[in-house]
Amino acid sequence: MNFTQFNLDPRLMQGVKKAGYETATPIQEAAMPAALRGRDIIGTAQTGTGKTAAFVLPILNKLLSGGQRNVPRALIVAPTRELAEQINDVVKVLAAGTKIKSATIYGGVGANPQIQALRNGAEILIACPGRLLDLINQGYAKMGNIEILVLDEADRMFDMGFLPDVRRIVKAVPAKRQTMFFSATFPADVELLAQQVLTQPQKIAMGIVKPAHTVTHALYPVPPHLKSALLLELLKRTDTDSVLVFTRTKYRAQKVSQQILRAGFKVTSLHGDRSQGQRQSALKGFKDGTHNIMVATDIAARGLDVESISHVINYDMPDTADAYIHRIGRTGRAEKTGDA
Ligand code: AMP
Repeated sequence: MNFTQFNLDPRLMQGVKKAGYETATPIQEAAMPAALRGRDIIGTAQTGTGKTAAFVLPILNKLLSGGQRNVPRALIVAPTRELAEQINDVVKVLAAGTKIKSATIYGGVGANPQIQALRNGAEILIACPGRLLDLINQGYAKMGNIEILVLDEADRMFDMGFLPDVRRIVKAVPAKRQTMFFSATFPADVELLAQQVLTQPQKIAMGIVKPAHTVTHALYPVPPHLKSALLLELLKRTDTDSVLVFTRTKYRAQKVSQQILRAGFKVTSLHGDRSQGQRQSALKGFKDGTHNIMVATDIAARGLDVESISHVINYDMPDTADAYIHRIGRTGRAEKTGDA
């Protein structure tokens, strides 16, 4: 299905072109017609399926169809700062032909620029729960005009203990709204939340949760004390583009990235012990190729979308099958191939 068939506001086609999208991905084809009609959506979508555009385009289309300007009208809640920034990048590209303003809201950085963005009339907010609640409670973020609410990666928000905050946010937005709910998995608490926030949703299930078929898997049995030596040897011998290495702990991420650095590679790390500034510059350097290797913990790398990742290496085994799927979903995105 071509994007022209969605009957989007003509101003959005400029952004679609800028993003380089021609044909819709399966989730876009399944979700967008209903979302554009204003239906609630519940989606089981794998990472890398194009789900962000599937909710961002209907939001932009609705905002362009009229209504008040320069007040928050769409709210996207996401589990991590990195994911919030990434969603905002998609918003900015797709909104290129419009005057719609967006803002990210999350903790770990000063609140003033975020308050300023709200004062400047941001209409789409992409927020992590904690800071958003602070700004709501302080009266800076006004929820009274929210028409569309998106809860993205709801299972991760549950894992990270955000569900009580998410419930408070849902209470703060008008009951009459369109809600889109995305989650890779549906543990009982997430299922319950979905039932509470959605009204007769259109169900979009993109198959069962499984690794993208574009990823090849390899397993190297190795005793712990030889892991680093094996990792360095693999990095030396393998023809790679960008490589993402996962460790279980922040400490280990730091240690492994130093070992890789000493072996002469361009490497950075992404984990919760680094400041927001360091995290942003690590991510930027990894995206633009300054560092072709990044060592990260699960939480830090949630939702990460870097096109050039050819290899994901699990230095430490993930705790759950879901975590494995999330990790290796960082490669093999949008029909590219990858190795795990
Ligand atoms: P997402 O699942 O939203 O993180 O998207 C994964 C990747 O697919 C991103 O790099 C998008 O830019 C890309 N993408 C999304 N929709 C399309 C499309 N219709 N055609 C080509 N690439 C797309």
